[in-house]
Amino acid sequence: MPLTPTDKIWMDGDFVDWADATVHVLTHTMHYGTGVFEGIRAYPTPNGVAVFRLRDHIKRLFASAKVFMIDIPYTVDELVDATIALVRVNGLDDGCYIRPLVYLGYGEMGLNPIPCPVKVSIAAWPWGTYLGDEGVANGVSTKISSWRRHDPNAVPTAAKGTGMYVNSSLAKMEALRGGYDEAILLSADGNVSECTGENIFIVLNGHLVTPHTSDSGALAGITQRSVETIARDLGYEVVYEQMIRTDLYAAEEAFLTGTAAEVVPIRSVDDRDVGTGKPGPITKQLQQAYFSTVRGEIDRYKDWLDYVR
Ligand code: PMP
Repeated sequence: MPLTPTDKIWMDGDFVDWADATVHVLTHTMHYGTGVFEGIRAYPTPNGVAVFRLRDHIKRLFASAKVFMIDIPYTVDELVDATIALVRVNGLDDGCYIRPLVYLGYGEMGLNPIPCPVKVSIAAWPWGTYLGDEGVANGVSTKISSWRRHDPNAVPTAAKGTGMYVNSSLAKMEALRGGYDEAILLSADGNVSECTGENIFIVLNGHLVTPHTSDSGALAGITQRSVETIARDLGYEVVYEQMIRTDLYAAEEAFLTGTAAEVVPIRSVDDRDVGTGKPGPITKQLQQAYFSTVRGEIDRYKDWLDYVR
């Protein structure tokens, strides 16, 4: 889906025109993948557009930066305020996707990133659900990737580092070329980790299971945590447990979670239907509850919303 340009992008404290938000070709992060980023969504609610779990995302951005020893020259509050101002300035009242990026700019080359200037940008644009409306409604087909998720001792999988996403891109291309919608990656030691930009849940004996994020190399997803809370509040047991590929085949239901993708049923894994091959009742219930939550329709979760106006 091509990008839909908006008016302004926030760059190092200023709103610049979309077309002028450019960088030098010798930007350090372009060469070595030394940046960190976030993906956030804002949704229309009965009280106007609101950003979902904004502070949690910005805090994770700072946590990622810490791992990479990048000192962000702003506070969490300043980036929260900048994000809200950006959505307002661009008039994105129907909701949007928001992409904060911390990168190392032009200045020095070579593998020591420390001397490079730290730059921050935040862009926002309207973006439909990442895996498509059809996927949200009827589920996506998945394939275990031949690419393994990074070993957490090779790169810090708990951080959202830009360069680390070559792994996800390789797996995504392989899945799409093979005729599948999404890839599922196994960890270096062969357990289920996550999808290319989403966490994974299965339903087994009526309760929810999702892989440990630390040892599976999966990112600790904010959507995963939100769905965990919502599921517990609805009375489901949720466990973080090691999972192997045959657990996916045996699952009654499976779904994936992510800010961009939202909550999407998994229809099949390696050409085997998950359950009946149709979105299961627990998946549908949680998906519905998630959409109501982000749209400000459930009072209990209203603290997760930052209103723009
Ligand atoms: N895993 C990976 C590799 C991701 O890039 C993402 C998206 N940030 C997720 C999981 C889901 O995380 P979240 O729910 O916080 O968007």
